[in-house]
Amino acid sequence: MSRRPFNEQPTIPVKPCPFCGGTVGFVERMTICSYRYRCDCGADGPQVEHGRYEDHEGTPGNDAARAWNRRAKLPKRREVKP
Ligand SMILES: [Zn+2]
Repeated sequence: MSRRPFNEQPTIPVKPCPFCGGTVGFVERMTICSYRYRCDCGADGPQVEHGRYEDHEGTPGNDAARAWNRRAKLPKRREVKP
């Protein structure tokens, strides 16, 4: 029996935030089996589904990070007024 490790936090490189340029963030669990990457500034990435809760294996952190990285490519910038 070999179960893959379960990583809720990403083990792959995460791109800088398109809003604040920061690189500090974490993966947040949204519901029992969906996750999203969230920057320290409050910007959050797309929500990703991660199978069933009973499938407690895999790397939802990396799935969320990949979704975030795809979005981080967008040239869109939101200016925040003081
Ligand atoms: Zn940010």
